[in-house]
Amino acid sequence: MLVESVTPELPDTKTLKLKWPDGHNPEFQTGQFITLYWPDAPEYKRAYSLSSCALDRGFYEVTIKREGKMGTRIVDWAKPGQTMFVLPPAGKFLPAFEPGKQLICIAGGSGVTPFRAFVRDATKRELENKITVLYSVRTTNDIIFNAEFHDLAAENPNFNFYVTCTRLHPEDKWTGRRGRIDAAWVKEQIHDLPNTVFYACGPNPLVEFAEQVVLHDLGVPKTQMKTEKWG
Ligand SMILES: Cc1cc2nc3c(=O)[nH]c(=O)nc-3n(C[C@H](O)[C@H](O)[C@H](O)COP(=O)(O)OP(=O)(O)OC[C@H]3O[C@@H](n4cnc5c(N)ncnc54)[C@H](O)[C@@H]3O)c2cc1C
Repeated sequence: MLVESVTPELPDTKTLKLKWPDGHNPEFQTGQFITLYWPDAPEYKRAYSLSSCALDRGFYEVTIKREGKMGTRIVDWAKPGQTMFVLPPAGKFLPAFEPGKQLICIAGGSGVTPFRAFVRDATKRELENKITVLYSVRTTNDIIFNAEFHDLAAENPNFNFYVTCTRLHPEDKWTGRRGRIDAAWVKEQIHDLPNTVFYACGPNPLVEFAEQVVLHDLGVPKTQMKTEKWG
């Protein structure tokens, strides 16, 4: 697929827009990931969650942090006009948009990417599912899609976007929450526990921490939590 655009989100994070070839009209689901590789290194393939949703047609978007070999190569070197190979969307990290379900999405750093897809999808379809994103970042400079999440929250009365900063200077002017995500904060968001599905996505330590909070501290059954571990 042609790299149509490369958009900086943060100094170390970019969104890649990949144009579908003419006549390509794949069926896929919001929350899935694609697998990318460069034409000169076909054996080196890496997965990236779609940050666009299944209603976005004609292109895929992935949002990539400058980390490791593939992350660094894409963020530093991907340019519009280049070609990348793309394996079809796969994965079961899918939003539970059945009527009456609430989604509580726990993210840290770049792990927020599939939740942008969830919220875009629900907002475009005017779904009534309550979606809450709890997003842990180091500082206010590390919030990916900050403006877009606030716009979506203004448009979608069922969506709430809450950020907690873990490494802000004590004198920083941020009036929002500080410190790590904890059980009390997650619990505050729950309205109807049996109809709540919890999500966590990102590097393994963040996902394992979220599992500890939801499954262990809050005692939620495993069947009500979906995770996507990036390694
Ligand atoms: C389902 C799925 C979805 C994903 N979605 C995304 C996404 O949306 N966005 C995203 O940015 N990533 C995502 N990833 C991660 C992505 O696939 C890559 O693993 C990531 O970009 C790192 O590239 P790499 O594997 O080539 O890194 P590698 O070079 O194999 O390195 C792997 C890890 O080791 C660390 N490392 C490497 N060398 C060293 C060293 N010398 N010292 C210390 N640490 C080192 C790297 O920082 C990195 O964290 C996803 C992964 C999966 C499985």
